Amino acid sequence: MNKRRSSLILIIFLLILVLLFGVIVIVLLSPTPTPTQTALATRTLTVTTTDTPTTTSTGTTTSTATITFTPSPTLFPEPKGCLQPPEDYSRLQVDGHWLNQRTYAMLQHAAGIYNGVIDVSGNALTQGNYTDSEPLSFGTHAGGGAVDISVLDRTHWEILYDEIDPLIRALRIAGFAAWLREYGELNPGSPIHIHAIAIGDAELSYAAREQLTGQYGYFRGYTGVPTEDGIPLPDRHGGPILCRWMIDLGYQDLRQITPEAAP
Ligand SMILES: [Zn+2]
Repeated sequence: MNKRRSSLILIIFLLILVLLFGVIVIVLLSPTPTPTQTALATRTLTVTTTDTPTTTSTGTTTSTATITFTPSPTLFPEPKGCLQPPEDYSRLQVDGHWLNQRTYAMLQHAAGIYNGVIDVSGNALTQGNYTDSEPLSFGTHAGGGAVDISVLDRTHWEILYDEIDPLIRALRIAGFAAWLREYGELNPGSPIHIHAIAIGDAELSYAAREQLTGQYGYFRGYTGVPTEDGIPLPDRHGGPILCRWMIDLGYQDLRQITPEAAP
């Protein structure tokens, strides 16, 4: 009995030894994966830390850009053909009408976009800048930037109806607030023509400035013509066209803003 017991104890002891050996072997083998795991963990950490600043900085840039363009998020990309005019106010005469170089450069740019039969930077000019000869113009031509353009065919003196919309669009892209003034629109017998104000001209008269941002103004989506009842008439040419350079000068789409709320 004793011998059996002692042999049993021996067997159990041997089994424990084998088990312990197995455990030791496992422990000895396991260090190999452990460093890999640590290394992996370190790598993951390094990746995360390098990633985080990059994403944060990109995030900041994006948010700054959003803030800059918040006033007109739907406007961009700006229409093709937007080009900031040169700030040159030296004066020249074109077809007998005074213009500043800035207005003239804008008219030439409009002519290039329009590319039609009306000579918008030449003989189609009927009134230029720095003149107050036309009392119907409310003094809008007294300073820089205001022009009148004939829409009549010069041989038959017929109205070139098909040319009006493309020319007004070209003038607007080139940086003018431009509208068709219908026959008799300004007063009984006033001629049909396009009236345009160069946006951002530093020498605009008060009346011209009002036609841009005033109560009846272009940037508010109106015709620029004061009405007796004080209710502005809606622009018939699709609302203002804004280029980035206009926004940089402080202009914006004022159609949703009441005159009282605007600065
Ligand atoms: Zn005019």
